[in-house]
Amino acid sequence: MKVKEIMKALEAKHPGEKEYLQAVEEVLVSIEKVYNEHPEFEKAKIIERLVEPDRIFTFRVTWVNDKGEVCTNLGYRVQYNAALGAYKGGLRFHPAVNVSMLKFLGFEQIFKNSLTNLPLGGGKGGADFDPTGKSDAEIMRFCQAFMYELWRNIGPDQDSPAGDVGVGGREIGYLYGAYKKLAREHSTGALTGKSYGWGGSLIRPEATGFGAMYYVERMVKEKKETMKDKKIALSGFGNVAWGAATKAVEMGAKVIAISGPDGVCEIKDGITKEMIDYMLEMRASNRNKVEDMATKFPKAAKFTAGKKSWTVKCDIAMPCAFQNELSEEDADMLIKNGVKFVAEVSNMGCQPGAIAAFQKAKLPFAPGKAVNAGGVATSGLEICQNAGHINWTAEEVDVKLHKIMNDIYDMCVEYGKNGKTIDYVKGANIAGFMRVAKAMLAQGII
Ligand code: GLU
Repeated sequence: MKVKEIMKALEAKHPGEKEYLQAVEEVLVSIEKVYNEHPEFEKAKIIERLVEPDRIFTFRVTWVNDKGEVCTNLGYRVQYNAALGAYKGGLRFHPAVNVSMLKFLGFEQIFKNSLTNLPLGGGKGGADFDPTGKSDAEIMRFCQAFMYELWRNIGPDQDSPAGDVGVGGREIGYLYGAYKKLAREHSTGALTGKSYGWGGSLIRPEATGFGAMYYVERMVKEKKETMKDKKIALSGFGNVAWGAATKAVEMGAKVIAISGPDGVCEIKDGITKEMIDYMLEMRASNRNKVEDMATKFPKAAKFTAGKKSWTVKCDIAMPCAFQNELSEEDADMLIKNGVKFVAEVSNMGCQPGAIAAFQKAKLPFAPGKAVNAGGVATSGLEICQNAGHINWTAEEVDVKLHKIMNDIYDMCVEYGKNGKTIDYVKGANIAGFMRVAKAMLAQGII
């Protein structure tokens, strides 16, 4: 395989699919050497088959808003690769959603799911629907209209969507309710991220954030340091940042920044339990404004409009919001301010220039597909519980999640160790790829 040639061909075939091309290139560069040591991979054209999704469904979603107006959005499901199991991955509702974004997310998901060591293929979906400012009834009607189309193509042994940006517990509830009505399947893992009591798993809401902190704790330990009093800057204030903040505080660290599209909230003395609880209310309000935290807690939090979390001096930076949210300029600022560790929690949260800057500065940098894998891993555990018609305790799930994250960390070290340094990006990409490639090889040319 020659990465340059493959990328040239893909650019010609999929012009303008920026995020997709970026995600593919990152993986190919990491695995090039290992891939070329396996002529059997090349013979089976593993890369050519892996970079194209198995199929993409695109559908119209028409619904009625509270004013009685008819609205139309576009819905998608990208079923990317099923070598390891049924397609699995979240749904994103965001106005910028398009094929390129979902292909990048689906592609990343293949390797992330592989890292969990669970039998999960990769997929992703969503719609260009903007939940900001929508009423609860509008959200419900949109979810129902979305499911009118999607239900035929999902199921626990076929494809199992979950949440992502703009899709949380409430949306999964409406989507699952509509799915059950249409499919007449009432007790399955056709969707994950359900609430506890009707098929959901304990710890699933916290899992992405908890898993990320378990991974970061290992990065910190590797440098013979501890989490105690480490200053952590998070971005976003959604489900992922909420889970990460909860676990960070439990570990004795201090979350000193959260952010939103409107700006940053600096929390000098560290976020409190009350503030973490308030993040849930902020998300449920659909206002998408982090300023609300400073309005509610004026003494503890200081809001600055138009600024990102990366302007706040910290030990650990963890992007938790959106792809490419941390630029090379942001990385330079973090490095100048003495950041010690960077862990992506959002998918592809750092721009390539930012990753290069962290690596050049010899800072431990870990990619989203490893750090945030706890979310989908716990979705996998939810499917297991659904299939067995049982509920595990929070402790049982957390122990399994913790072990999965430790195993992912170990795999990243095994494949990414380079003398005294660890290239977590390379480690995650190679470890994730090898399992998928071997499965594809074993299953023949399909
Ligand atoms: N959207 C999450 C992710 O990026 C979770 C996916 C899932 O649970 O299926 O991994």
